[in-house]
Amino acid sequence: METNNEKFLSVSAIQNGTVIDHIPAGRLFHVIDLLKLHTIKENRMTFGTNFKSERFGRKGVIKISGKFFEDIDMDKIALIAPNAKVNIIRDYKVVEKRKVAVPNKITAIAKCMNPKCITNHEEVTTKFDVITDDKKVALKCLYCEKITDQDNLELI
Ligand code: ZN
Repeated sequence: METNNEKFLSVSAIQNGTVIDHIPAGRLFHVIDLLKLHTIKENRMTFGTNFKSERFGRKGVIKISGKFFEDIDMDKIALIAPNAKVNIIRDYKVVEKRKVAVPNKITAIAKCMNPKCITNHEEVTTKFDVITDDKKVALKCLYCEKITDQDNLELI
């Protein structure tokens, strides 16, 4: 089951950097987008999708050389891929495995999907309660109480 994955991981081994694993296959590009990885110029990045994962069906993996993420990025990853695992690589070895944790509340990361919401018209920082189950994440706006579901999630 893991053969493809192992091959992929060894072919593109990185010396120092980050591997984001267990991204739902369909959300790979969403993660790339929200972390603005398409703007990376110097770091070598490889990604693949549709690897078999026993727990989640099909998954995507992103590997970035020389890049380490901040906690706020971990929160962003959690919103799109709540089951993602983030491996920190130093000297070709995994020195830390971080499981992303879906935060209870988020501030200034996401947009409210309600076009009438005050946060979309005035300079008000968005604030949400995060509603989550095992697979999905939704955001309840503290201003208009509208729920922004994962499919409509837009990060700022
Ligand atoms: Zn709102």
